[in-house]
Amino acid sequence: MKTKIVILGAAESGVGAALLAQQQGYDVFVSDAGKIAAGYKAELAAQQIAFEEGHHSEEKILSADEVIKSPGIPEKSTLIQQIRAKNIPVISEIEFAFRFIGNSKIIAITGSNGKTTTTALTYHICKHADKDCAMVGNIGYSFAKQVAEDPKPLYVAELSSFQLDDIKTFRPDVAVLTNITEDHLDRYDYKIENYVHSKFRIAENQLPGDVFIYCQDDETTMKYITNYPIQSQAAPITMNKQLPQGAYLTNAKMHLKWKNEEMQMNVEDFALKGKHNQYNSMAASLAATAVDIRKDKIREALQTFESLEHRMEPAGTVRGVEFVNDSKATNVNSTWFALESMTKPVILILGGVDKGNDYSLLQELVKEKVKAIVCMGTDNRKIHEAFGDTVSLMVNTENAKEAVQAAFHFANKGDVVLLSPACASFDLFKNYEDRGNQFKQEIKDL
Ligand code: ADP
Repeated sequence: MKTKIVILGAAESGVGAALLAQQQGYDVFVSDAGKIAAGYKAELAAQQIAFEEGHHSEEKILSADEVIKSPGIPEKSTLIQQIRAKNIPVISEIEFAFRFIGNSKIIAITGSNGKTTTTALTYHICKHADKDCAMVGNIGYSFAKQVAEDPKPLYVAELSSFQLDDIKTFRPDVAVLTNITEDHLDRYDYKIENYVHSKFRIAENQLPGDVFIYCQDDETTMKYITNYPIQSQAAPITMNKQLPQGAYLTNAKMHLKWKNEEMQMNVEDFALKGKHNQYNSMAASLAATAVDIRKDKIREALQTFESLEHRMEPAGTVRGVEFVNDSKATNVNSTWFALESMTKPVILILGGVDKGNDYSLLQELVKEKVKAIVCMGTDNRKIHEAFGDTVSLMVNTENAKEAVQAAFHFANKGDVVLLSPACASFDLFKNYEDRGNQFKQEIKDL
């Protein structure tokens, strides 16, 4: 008899898992409590995969031999609790895809901030070096679907902590942990330890021949790293000291040392600007070195990478005022790095849905660089409380048009208007992309 596999959630990751499971001969059933997007429905139907939407048929689900849970479904949901109570194994799509990759290699990237940038940059380096590879995971394309439809000898995977929560044997050849700051704590019983634990899972199955890249300057990473019996080779990155192995940055020069390879590069030549991107560039270079990419290829690729939309994206200059779209900055840490990289006086657009922000972390940089704050959110009280004494110019706005106009009004030639909200966008926008797009549109309309 075929193994019965139930897939919960029918978006990118669930549908990808379903396609792979069907191909591998499982008895597949997909269930989504909400509506399934038309495109995904068509993909399921084309492969004659059974599915339901708008509800979960408990009896059917609870008769599964194995469940694949989409990362969006919280552990606390009643259905997951029932599945756990029946001891039905629950895995993530990442774990499932891993079963079928054969001898292919994986570079997997996680962290609170910088995942997408580091993933995209690593992929860019690999492509530039003519590696036959694919970019998968949180970045927007399902790992399982890639394995089913177009398997590759190398995968560069961006993984969220939710995707790591239900792995069992998943083992990347190269693991990257960019950093850990408080985020999504609502999904981890408000315990940072739980969140840290899922991040470190990226290395838990690694073997001595594998490589673990992490940031030595990240306090939380360093506080917890010794709690984990990591077997793989340590490849740290830092800006604070020289290292015998790993990547470090001193006097605006990156030094990369791995096995017998050595490389140096001026940070001025990095296409990606800002201190946070120097960390991302170090991590990506080291990951590329670990899969034997030559240094001249790495150097060229670091110079030619084009920045990603909504992440410190240059959004034009109007009458000498520069605009930067960092809508993806949905927590305080991201905004800290964005501000840190600013070299001109800043008009900062801040606000939205706050996930328990501690704005005091921004205080020093705001004092040093910000001349006005434009709040863009439905509830801006915390921002006023935090910066009312530091910044004299502050206004409330309730949409992108008002925010851009107010910011432009405060700005003089030579200033920069930075949208780096430190908050999620759901109060006024569909998502961070919508927020960034509206911001860019309003700049065009000035
Ligand atoms: P993620 O995919 O983890 O959300 P992104 O690469 O999309 O991260 O970057 C999101 C935002 O986080 C950027 O706009 C930038 O402000 C900030 N950021 C990027 N890299 C780092 C880093 N290494 N450390 C801290 N903040 C970063």
